[in-house]
Amino acid sequence: MFNSLQDKLDKALHNIKGRGKITEINVAETVKEIRRALVDADVNYKIAKDLTKRVQDKALGQNVLTSLSPGQLMTKIVHDELVELMGGSQEGINLSGKPSVVLIAGLQGSGKTTFSGKLANYLKQKKAKNPLLVACDVYRPAAIEQLKVLGKQIGITVYTEEENKNPSSIAQNAINFAKENKHDVVIVDTAGRLAIDEAMMNEIKTVHQTIKPTETLFVVDSMTGQDAVNTAKSFNDTLNFDGVVLTKLDGDTRGGAALTIRTVVEKPIKFISTGEKMEALDLFYPERMADRILG
Ligand code: GDP
Repeated sequence: MFNSLQDKLDKALHNIKGRGKITEINVAETVKEIRRALVDADVNYKIAKDLTKRVQDKALGQNVLTSLSPGQLMTKIVHDELVELMGGSQEGINLSGKPSVVLIAGLQGSGKTTFSGKLANYLKQKKAKNPLLVACDVYRPAAIEQLKVLGKQIGITVYTEEENKNPSSIAQNAINFAKENKHDVVIVDTAGRLAIDEAMMNEIKTVHQTIKPTETLFVVDSMTGQDAVNTAKSFNDTLNFDGVVLTKLDGDTRGGAALTIRTVVEKPIKFISTGEKMEALDLFYPERMADRILG
C-alpha cells in the first residue's frame, strides 16, 4: 500500500535525519521534497501546499522546545499532519435505527456489492447483528446474482424482486420485510454507472429520500486517484453522505484519495477494503494509516 509515497517521504526525511540541528534551509529543502512526494501521490496541490506550510512553521517554531533530533521532530510533525488530514480519529457507523438502514452508493465497479457483503459479514461476526442484504440494481441481473452468491457464502439473507424495476419500492419493501423477519440492519446495494450521470444521481436521490437511511456510505475505488475525489464531491452534493469506503487499497494505489477526500468533502473515511475476500475489510484508523505511510 502506498509504496511509492512511502519511499519518497522516506527520502525526503532522510536528509534532515543526518543533520545536527534544524535550520531554515534544511527545513525548506525537506518541506519541498515532502510537497513533491504528496503531489506525486495525487494529493491535491493546494492541500499539499497548506500541509507543508504548517509542517514548516511547526518545525521552526518547535525546534527550541524539544529534545528530539531534527529527523525525529520532522517525522513526528509530518505524522501528526497526516493524521489530521485523514480526519483524526476512527468514526464508526450509526446503527441506531430499528432497523438501521445503510445505503451503499458509488460508481459501477467501485466495489459496492463486494463491500455490501463484507459489511454484512462484519456486522454479523463482530457486532452480533442479523443483517439483510438488498439488491437494488435493476439494470444488471448479474449484480443481483453476485449479491445472492455472496449472501450464500456468508450465510446472510438477500432480498430481491427481480420483476420490480423501481429501486425505491424494492428498498422500501425490503425494510418492511426486515421488520417482519427480525433483521436489525438493512444494507441496500444500489446501481452505479461507469461515470457520473444525471439519471443515476436522480435515482439514488429518490431512493435516499424514500428510505431515509440511518447511514449513507459512498464507496470509491482508491486506484482512481483525483477522479475518486471528484466523484466523492458529486455524490456528496447529491446525498450529503455520512462516510466514505475506500476500496482496492491492496492494489498499487498512490494514496492521493485517502489523503485528500476528507478535506475536500469534510466526511470521514470509515472503512477500507483491501481485497476481494469477504474478510478483507478494516475500519479506517487515520493514526495507523499515517504510521504505515511513514514506514
Ligand atoms: P460494484 O459494481 O460497485 O458493485 O463493484 P463490485 O463489488 O462488483 O467490484 C468490482 C470488482 O472489484 C470485482 O471484481 C471485485 O471482486 C473487485 N473488488 C472489490 N473490492 C476490492 C478490493 O478491495 N480489492 C480488490 N483487489 N478488488 C476488489
